[in-house]
Amino acid sequence: MRLNWIHRFKGGVHPTPHKNTRSKPIETLAPQKEMIYPLLQHIGAICEPCVKPGDDVKIGQKIADTPAAVAAPVHATVSGTVKKICDWDHPTGNRIPAIIIENDFEDRRAECFQEACPDYQSKSPEELIAMIREAGIVGMGGAAFPTHIKLSSGLGRVDTVVVNAAECEPYLSSDHRVILENIDELLDGLKIVRYIMSAQNMYIGIENNKPDAISLLHKKLAKSRVRVVILKTKYPQGGEKQLIRAVTGRVVPSGKLPADVGCLVMNVDTVIAIYRAIVNGSPLMRRIVTVAGHGVERSGNVNVRIGTPFSAVLQYFGYKPSTRKLIMGGPMMGTAQYSLDAPVIKSTSGLLCFTKDQLTADRDVDCIRCGSCVAACPMQLVPSYIAQYVKAEKFEKVQALHAADCIECGCCSFTCPAKIPLIQYMRIGKQRVSEMNRKEGGKRT
Ligand code: SF4
Ligand code: SF4
Repeated sequence: MRLNWIHRFKGGVHPTPHKNTRSKPIETLAPQKEMIYPLLQHIGAICEPCVKPGDDVKIGQKIADTPAAVAAPVHATVSGTVKKICDWDHPTGNRIPAIIIENDFEDRRAECFQEACPDYQSKSPEELIAMIREAGIVGMGGAAFPTHIKLSSGLGRVDTVVVNAAECEPYLSSDHRVILENIDELLDGLKIVRYIMSAQNMYIGIENNKPDAISLLHKKLAKSRVRVVILKTKYPQGGEKQLIRAVTGRVVPSGKLPADVGCLVMNVDTVIAIYRAIVNGSPLMRRIVTVAGHGVERSGNVNVRIGTPFSAVLQYFGYKPSTRKLIMGGPMMGTAQYSLDAPVIKSTSGLLCFTKDQLTADRDVDCIRCGSCVAACPMQLVPSYIAQYVKAEKFEKVQALHAADCIECGCCSFTCPAKIPLIQYMRIGKQRVSEMNRKEGGKRT
């Protein structure tokens, strides 16, 4: 193992970390009487149910899937009976079809979800990728892109795997705790990823605010070729392009993907999910969720079965009605929530309950041309100009300023002294440029 300080990325901000949950061991929340399984928990096509009301289901049983190329199946995380299939509140803010299962609390397991394969080298990379697809694994850093697509599209192109252990969003510490408590599964999962990709270079990129995790990695990887790269604590250090630049020095050009520069980035918990799918034959059924903010009596990290309603998770931590804003994910890139009935899905890394004293109102007054947003943007965009053109509905100009490269990190909004909600303008701009190009039949998006 080598410890490295390598490159830094340009831009970024230094929000207060608020990582007090990092010293708290992961707790476990019991599953609820009623569990909710949205048919869309990934980027891609919505799944179709493969069960119907009245059906008996077991833990680990596949309950929804689709033949669409970009998708990941959904599995039951309790045993019981399918109560109904109906539209339900979803963390995206929409109503999306979901399978509702009444838990019988017997925890009956599906006899064999898929073959457990501790001797993974007896399988081809393609066979292992097919197992990862069947396990319903998606990127657990928040993006929820189906992992089997990421792996298969990188076959023969990727020589470098970077494990994303940066966890740069304030408040969130679930990845940090997972490294401390599941290190062996993480490192064994990494061997499987290396085998699948035939990768020559393996890195773990971790911010320097996690000394106990760094020390553990150091100890465990003393005789390994895996390099631990210690990164400056800066947001968004965990953005794919920023991480690749910081760890390998490679630059992913505008409009290109990590595989175009030979890299594959994978979140810590995703690697563990791969280990469990291949070695234990287990589908993706749980999330470690950080719960924090002044709107709960206590904060912490909790192991939650996917499908558990937010209300149950928050009650476990002493939810206060004084909460003014609930965010799924981190405060910089997370999404505001409007319903406690929405369930924990594959991309739920955190639930943050903010009270009035923790919120800053957006004002959207005039830009004072200070340039702070330009200096902070890790993608070297000019958010102030883009926002002006979005307001004026000049979307050709928005496109010309490369708004599509925005990673929606929120650094511009965070740093703006005029409190202009720049990230909202960026999202609108990206969406409208994409629609414009679809209509016009495929200019650069
Ligand atoms: S313009 Fe996009 S990438 Fe740049 S700081 Fe704002 S949100 Fe981040
Ligand atoms: S940070 Fe805000 S006030 Fe400063 S240039 Fe950007 S948009 Fe204008």
